[in-house]
Amino acid sequence: MTKKILFILSIIVSSHAFSAEGMWVPGMISKMVADNMESMGMKISLDDIYAINNSSIKDAVVHFNGGCTSVLVSDQGLLLTNHHCGYSRIQAHSSLENNYLKDGFWAMSLSEELSNPGMDATVIKEIRDVTNDMLAELSVEATEAERIEHLTKKSAELIKKVKEETGFEAYVKAFYHGNQYLLFVNEVFTDVRLVGAPPSSIGKFGFDTDNWVWPRHTGDFSVFRIYANADNKPADFNEDNKPYRPNHFLPVNIQGVEKDDFTLVYGFPGTTENYITEAETKHVLEVINPLRLKMREASLGVIDEAMKGSELTKIQYAAKQSRISNAYKKWIGQSKGLIRHKVLDKKDSVEALFAQRIADNQDWNTAYATLISEIKAIEAAKLPLNVNRNYFIEFYYMGPEILRFTEKYRELVAMCKDENITDEAIEAWINEHIDNSGYFKNYDNTVDEDIMKAQIGFFVEDQKPLDFLNNLKSDKESLTAFVDRLYEETLFDNEADLTDFFSTFKRKHYKKIEDDPAYELSLRLAMFYSDVTRPELLKYVTNSDSLMRIWMDAQMLVLPERTYSPDANGTLRITFGKVEGYEPFDGAEYAYYTTLEGVMEKEDPTNPEYNVPERLKELYAAKDYGRYAHSTGEMRVAFVASNHTSGGNSGSPVIDANGNLIGLNFDRTWESTMSDIMFNPSICRNISVDIRYVLFIMDKYAGAKHLVDEMKLVSE
Ligand code: ASP
Repeated sequence: MTKKILFILSIIVSSHAFSAEGMWVPGMISKMVADNMESMGMKISLDDIYAINNSSIKDAVVHFNGGCTSVLVSDQGLLLTNHHCGYSRIQAHSSLENNYLKDGFWAMSLSEELSNPGMDATVIKEIRDVTNDMLAELSVEATEAERIEHLTKKSAELIKKVKEETGFEAYVKAFYHGNQYLLFVNEVFTDVRLVGAPPSSIGKFGFDTDNWVWPRHTGDFSVFRIYANADNKPADFNEDNKPYRPNHFLPVNIQGVEKDDFTLVYGFPGTTENYITEAETKHVLEVINPLRLKMREASLGVIDEAMKGSELTKIQYAAKQSRISNAYKKWIGQSKGLIRHKVLDKKDSVEALFAQRIADNQDWNTAYATLISEIKAIEAAKLPLNVNRNYFIEFYYMGPEILRFTEKYRELVAMCKDENITDEAIEAWINEHIDNSGYFKNYDNTVDEDIMKAQIGFFVEDQKPLDFLNNLKSDKESLTAFVDRLYEETLFDNEADLTDFFSTFKRKHYKKIEDDPAYELSLRLAMFYSDVTRPELLKYVTNSDSLMRIWMDAQMLVLPERTYSPDANGTLRITFGKVEGYEPFDGAEYAYYTTLEGVMEKEDPTNPEYNVPERLKELYAAKDYGRYAHSTGEMRVAFVASNHTSGGNSGSPVIDANGNLIGLNFDRTWESTMSDIMFNPSICRNISVDIRYVLFIMDKYAGAKHLVDEMKLVSE
């Protein structure tokens, strides 16, 4: 082996042997990982973390509406998650009169808790390895298409069987890029009510400026409650439902954390791409991230300006702005981190070592000699289509809302054209859909039009083959004039016009919908994506998926000294680490915790991002922290630790060595956002709100002590 390769190997081995990298599947923890957890201070057993016949911590960890995590903290279904996870629900209940986003909301009794139609909370009952069942009878000669067909059929059979045997729902997910398959048996609760939320000046303190940033002073939590029927089973909202009685809820440790304390984060991380090649990482860095940033800068420019000028727009666009700006800022940090930590070079080194090893081994050489160059070739071919796809996502799904809003009317148009559909059925459809007040409550057509104007140029520039746009535009009409005309002529940007139109709707009027410029643009965009971009992309995706499966398997075989945890895929995981600060850049060192003192230091009454509520200032002045104060007397707000987390881990319980709740994970530091592609234990930190700050805000700030009384507080 050359010196260079030996050096690379030493980096790989040393950085992985004692690091906390990895998002592990509970119930499938290897001895090596378990030993590592123990050596870092964990005192509970693997059975305490995950069991199927007894209650265990897993029963308290709840997938919150499919995107975030939450934790059960009482025997009455009380659920804690982040403020930013509950944000759209808090927003939905807010109005100028009852501005819960601004002022907070606290239900003082069960009867005041607010229902949230359409939302769900999922508890995992069991995780099974079904790799053998999934792959049984799959011929080694099967094409990729046959493989997909086989796997789809098998997973449907397995899910059906679980349902028949247990009555529970289930889903199957691929791990290690299709080298392993796990089945998750689960119970989905649909009556989830809002119990409490601090004002945004606490729950979102620091807003966009502090998002993804440490030191942080945000009380990022909100409170919900799961309700169930008389048998403690899932049921849609009903006055008679009762608070859910979980198999396990987490005791809350009010002792607080110290440096080097063990931490375990239990939750549902969304997506990581830790095993992509150097070539793909380069595309993210040089092509995909820049285009996403360009599109989002355009829409955020419009939204931020509009929100500055009006209280109403601030309420209407708060959740949308957060959704767009959250990933926007993350991608900036991610690109910086990837460059600073020379991730391309590191990926290159791994690939070089791989090439060296296989060159020395006849069998490996036969199997993998062309693997990396094949991956490179396919990535290069896929890139332009990926660019199209990302522009489509940014414009159609994240851009002007009118494009998505008109979507549902495609069904009506199809019904009107179908002779087998009766007039009565059409009338019933209209009655069901005539009320659009929920949508229009949060819609401003001027803002929407300006977003379209800001983005459409970039979009069209990219997707030149959009001939249809030229058909839609009249001769020599500029894009801006086209957008002006679109919003002038469309029915779909005005609630009154729309209701008027449908109140006298006759079947033949469907033509007016079809000719509507917003409807037409939306339909053509969607068709272009589904008929042109997507099928082309899919041709490559199938191949690149199968190469990725082989690449994953090959790395595990050829480079066995590395630790391989499966990429995040929205399933239940644990990740462990310890409470520790870090050195963000040369010459600086960050502490592992922040305090209320820092909230006061950041206070700026002239900047809405840093307002501090009067009541909080009073409590601070009186140092009235009660039992929630740290042993030093200060009020701790947040802390950082070296857990390998991702989006979806928002709201995850941060658990101490004894299995108690010590915080709620809510973010990563700016320097950590690269961890979705490469985790670096010396620099990557997750940010959590100290659970004592959560209790202090509930009890002392909001006067909702009854909620704290529901929990089991421990001090150990
Ligand atoms: N704050 C993040 C999010 O919104 C959590 C993370 O990615 O670490 O997804």
